[in-house]
Amino acid sequence: MPTSDTAEVVILGAGIAGCALADHLARRRVGPVVVYDPRIPAAGASGRAAGIVTEQLWNAWDVAVTRESKEEYAALARQRDPSAYSVNGFARWTVQAEAERVLDRAIEQLHAWNVDVRRLDRDELATRVPWGRFGDVRAAIWSPTDAVVTPSAMTEMYAERARAAGVEFWLGVPFGKLRRSEGRWAVEAGGRTVRAPRVVVAAGAWTKRILKEIGRPVPLAPYRTQAAVLRPSPPVPEFPSVHDIDTDVYVRPESAGRILAGDGTELVEVDPEQFRTGGDAAFETHLAESFLTRFPGWAEAELVRSWAGVCCSTPDRRPLVGPLPDAAGCFVLAGFNGFGVMRAGGVARRLAELLAAGEGDRTALELLAPVLPARFPSDLPPFLPRPGFTLEGGRDPRF
Ligand SMILES: Cc1cc2nc3c(=O)[nH]c(=O)nc-3n(C[C@H](O)[C@H](O)[C@H](O)COP(=O)(O)OP(=O)(O)OC[C@H]3O[C@@H](n4cnc5c(N)ncnc54)[C@H](O)[C@@H]3O)c2cc1C
Repeated sequence: MPTSDTAEVVILGAGIAGCALADHLARRRVGPVVVYDPRIPAAGASGRAAGIVTEQLWNAWDVAVTRESKEEYAALARQRDPSAYSVNGFARWTVQAEAERVLDRAIEQLHAWNVDVRRLDRDELATRVPWGRFGDVRAAIWSPTDAVVTPSAMTEMYAERARAAGVEFWLGVPFGKLRRSEGRWAVEAGGRTVRAPRVVVAAGAWTKRILKEIGRPVPLAPYRTQAAVLRPSPPVPEFPSVHDIDTDVYVRPESAGRILAGDGTELVEVDPEQFRTGGDAAFETHLAESFLTRFPGWAEAELVRSWAGVCCSTPDRRPLVGPLPDAAGCFVLAGFNGFGVMRAGGVARRLAELLAAGEGDRTALELLAPVLPARFPSDLPPFLPRPGFTLEGGRDPRF
């Protein structure tokens, strides 16, 4: 494909968010779009994620974008790779009385947002997850329409469709600089410069540094989170994704009877260029210990591999999406707080509508109202990453 040194929109970052945005922009015919990434699609968090997609969230906006994403992923998978999307349901439980009360309130709230969710008793939980031990569980919640996706496959499918519609992917050359010159944004990388009136920084954990370097700091805190694939014996048949609210351990089915497990957020900021990419012994021990009580048959499962990725927290645990105040033509698409796979499609669709309609379009802006960067002052003090998989948006019932 011929390349050009100008575009209408340059997207920085070929994770699931940047690739979904490229696809949506291509379908809206906004003009030439270039996606730049110093690596390859899904080289960041998107290629390391578990891929759980759940509507068990804590506000109506997040539920809506996750539902939109889910529909989009199901359709994309049907078209290109059916194995990348499967509806398997999602169960969570707790042994704590206080968490049980929060869980009941959460169910009430989720019903108000038309989320298909209900309580499960111990017997039903044991029927759905027969190799678990749930004798001490006080309460469980079940959403039958939740799904799992293969995040790298979804990212690639968006990229393929965008490329087929004319988007240029400019990959694998080192980043130089983002700068403003003569009323346009200039992206310099690998000896080439591409200029565009609009740039979208969708660079996951790297977004913070890129925007700081152009003098537009945003409140993002990159943090490390880990996961592992294990091979239990005998292999496990297809099962719902599960999350133990008390230990923060989640498990989803993997291909060939294996399982994928993880355990939440490390509450310190890390540099995405310099983090430990392998799983820690402490993480692997935490998984094995939690299996010992909850899934005794899995405690001896063979560890196939364990790894870490870097996600990006915001002070209110909501994404950071839309135009940056005082930086004409510069947009951000980041801050997914560990839930970016499940929300990327819907969020990218909304941002594409804004880019197609024009920054001043109030209807399109309204679709992003709760997550616009303008909600934070520019001089916000530093903050620590917040816990991920809580029942009610960061107000963790355990503390
Ligand atoms: C272990 C783990 C488990 C997870 N499980 C889930 C889950 O079950 N469900 C869920 O919804 N989410 C999950 N997540 C979170 C999810 O992975 C992220 O929220 C999501 O992938 C973010 O996508 P992104 O496109 O914003 O960022 P990324 O995928 O990180 O992409 C950012 C891209 O920017 C590129 N980049 C870096 N520097 C530059 C530059 N200067 N210019 C241009 N590009 C640059 C990087 O190379 C990278 O490709 C998990 C994450 C991890 C690590």
